[in-house]
Amino acid sequence: MIIVMENGASDAQIEGVVKKIKEFGLDANVSRGTERTVIGAIGDERKLDQEMIDALPGVENSMHIVKPYKIVAREWHKENTVIDIKGVPLGGKQIQIIGGPCSVETQAQMEQSAKFVKAAGCRLMRGGAFKPRTSPYAFQGKGVEGLDIFRKAADQQGLPIVTELMDVRMLDTFLEYNVDVIQIGTRNMQNFDLLKEVGKISTPVILKRGMSATISEWLMAAEYIAAGGNHNIIFCERGIRTYETYYRNVLDVTAIPVLKKETHLPVIVDPSHAGGKAWMVPALSRAAIAAGADGLLVEMHPKPCEAWCDADQALNPEELKQLMGELGGIAQVIGRSI
Ligand code: PEP
Ligand code: MN
Repeated sequence: MIIVMENGASDAQIEGVVKKIKEFGLDANVSRGTERTVIGAIGDERKLDQEMIDALPGVENSMHIVKPYKIVAREWHKENTVIDIKGVPLGGKQIQIIGGPCSVETQAQMEQSAKFVKAAGCRLMRGGAFKPRTSPYAFQGKGVEGLDIFRKAADQQGLPIVTELMDVRMLDTFLEYNVDVIQIGTRNMQNFDLLKEVGKISTPVILKRGMSATISEWLMAAEYIAAGGNHNIIFCERGIRTYETYYRNVLDVTAIPVLKKETHLPVIVDPSHAGGKAWMVPALSRAAIAAGADGLLVEMHPKPCEAWCDADQALNPEELKQLMGELGGIAQVIGRSI
């Protein structure tokens, strides 16, 4: 950390800053210029809180030199991390499309969905048993029964499952059902207690971006999971809130190359919750893959107009299949495969 002292800062004030730095186990290097004194804190500067330093008498401002995130940072881990999801690699050359309905409804709906997901060429399946809904009167998901339905349907097709965990009290049940990938939804990106708990297990976690989260907040949320020991983290950009009301959210395509630079972990995109309309999904998917996403999370329903949740944004089985073909072409151009 570099601390710039105010013009005319006294020796006692400089000494006060040095003392504070040392209290945290770091060394201080004082550089006296003609007008200002600059103090360099040497050691693990993550222990130093910028607000605490800035509040010391005589300090003009301070800045961190290293990133506040460590385990998830590419700075310390140059190679891309490839996460193995029951034999399906995510984060490598092969792009993974995770298809499936917004929510688990019935056994028949999930069995049909699984067949279509498999037939389209997807290697992973999504479906929510616990749904975060804006209204408490809307369908809240089938709950544990939904996990059972999903597990059985996906197993018939040999598809690993991705499903959302909202409540830490359900974690053991998720483990009992061998959920292959736990999704942390946008509304829970900064539910730090939930992040800490999924940090203690080894199940891969999809961490969706909070709808108003900055890249830095998102990386720090991932660091919470990583700090607990679980390094199997997948970032998922799902659109952010802006002033625009034409579409559900704004897909932040810029976040893809930025995250690929900042972290070694896989980055996927959810074009369904970004656009909120099925007709936007192919265009947003193509953009995401072209921009370097390692995968997509796409909503598909056997009969979209009958979906219990997010009916307007679900692709039908034929549309998913067609999309897979188009994405294959883009993947080839950028030296990847689907
Ligand atoms: C979902 O994927 O089903 C979902 C609720 O997404 P988000 O958390 O991005 O709104
Ligand atoms: Mn949905």
